Amino acid sequence: MLKIVSEKFLLRVLTALLVLVVSPAGIAQTKVIVGSDFLTTQNYYNKLINSDPLPIAQLNLFANQLPKGGDLHHHYSGALYAETYLDWVEKKGLCIVKASFKINFNGREHEKNESCLTVASVRADEIFYRKLLMHWSDKDFANHFHEALPPDIQFFSSFQYFTTISKAFYKDGLQQLKIRAKNENLQYIETMLARGPAINEIDSNKELDGLSPAISSEALDPYLDSAWQRFENDENFQNQIKNFIAEIESDTADIDDADFTLRVQVYVMRNASPSSVFSSMYSGFKAATQSKKVVGLNIVGPENSVVAMRDYSLHMKMFKYFKNKYPDVRLSLHAGELSLGMVPPEGLRYHIRSAVEIAGARRIGHGLDIMYESDADALLKKISQEQIAVEINLTSNEFIAGVAGQSHPVTIYIQRNIPIVISTDDEGVSRSSISNEYLLFISRYKPSYSFLKNTVYNSIQFSFLSDDEKLKQKKILDQRFARFEKDTAQTVKYFRRVNAAD
Ligand SMILES: [Zn+2]
Repeated sequence: MLKIVSEKFLLRVLTALLVLVVSPAGIAQTKVIVGSDFLTTQNYYNKLINSDPLPIAQLNLFANQLPKGGDLHHHYSGALYAETYLDWVEKKGLCIVKASFKINFNGREHEKNESCLTVASVRADEIFYRKLLMHWSDKDFANHFHEALPPDIQFFSSFQYFTTISKAFYKDGLQQLKIRAKNENLQYIETMLARGPAINEIDSNKELDGLSPAISSEALDPYLDSAWQRFENDENFQNQIKNFIAEIESDTADIDDADFTLRVQVYVMRNASPSSVFSSMYSGFKAATQSKKVVGLNIVGPENSVVAMRDYSLHMKMFKYFKNKYPDVRLSLHAGELSLGMVPPEGLRYHIRSAVEIAGARRIGHGLDIMYESDADALLKKISQEQIAVEINLTSNEFIAGVAGQSHPVTIYIQRNIPIVISTDDEGVSRSSISNEYLLFISRYKPSYSFLKNTVYNSIQFSFLSDDEKLKQKKILDQRFARFEKDTAQTVKYFRRVNAAD
């Protein structure tokens, strides 16, 4: 694919030069500038990545200005910064429990209780404020090792502080993410917005919750059929799903404009009971078939937790069941967000393959343990042939799983011609940004400019948008790159002149 794109660029430059000869001067000049801007930008970029030491600040500037297309691995609640959540706590007149850093949702408790702080008091107390940020995100984790939890626990437990408030302000939150996306030169976000409504059947029906996770698909399907029938006939559950879809439609209604598009994935929580996961999957597939805003499903939560590990295969078979019913609904699945030592080695051998071969995922989130998969070469070949994209989240992978630099399998995916996309995962919790993810990608792996550009285009190509929408987004991206390369070339030339005059 890289080769194809490189050839395309070369063709564009050659076409531009050809036009110079045969076309009226004015048009020809414009076209030639497009080609030469690309080359000037490429040369400038090559100079940066081939410098020793690497000019990180200059690459940071470059990464900030680079058009980024889409962010395809993006969790709504984890993308918002703790500061935003505090604004919302204040807006609702709630307080923060001093001892636990949790929001007190019991009304105006702070008026009678000194152990619950108003947001103004939190902000006035610098030490408490910083401690709150350390609980609600990964802030200061690296330089406070004496206070730190294990990194994956730190990361996932931060969600308990803001999950409830994050749901109270979907409209505001999405607008805020849109503003940030535009500032970061993103034009598309596919965010994991909400969990599909679930029924926990533990008390009423033990059928699903009593099953062995090792059950075959053939033996499992009759149980799933009967649960499906129960859901179909459950008026209350059907109404919950209807409301869920209506809320998504309403929350996303005012987001799209000429420069920005937002679509949604709904998700299931992998650490819930089987009946809860299955019912949540049911509502997720219903939402994906009934709302144009819902473009796919995902499965989230710590993959190394007891329940997630125990039920992994069961979850994949459940996805398979729904994919047979709704083959057009697309899945991007967190799979292989694991590294050696997080679980016994046997647990690293099958997650990515199962997500691809059993569940039918079209994109893989993380794919960090590919090196440990059974028959990994054959699996990589398959992923390459089927062009299943892998979502690379460098900050998150380093923090949660300790996988970074040359140990990160992004090098394998690139070498095996597997499409990758650069994404953020949870930029609010990580206190990062999409530009920083690109900076890490550039500075660690030094991709050629063509490859980098191709990776940005992947974020549209492998999105779950329709073909027509992708075409539209690609045209926008073409324009953004033309502008970026023109600006970069002008800047390079300007400073060449200035520095020559010195
Ligand atoms: Zn994720």
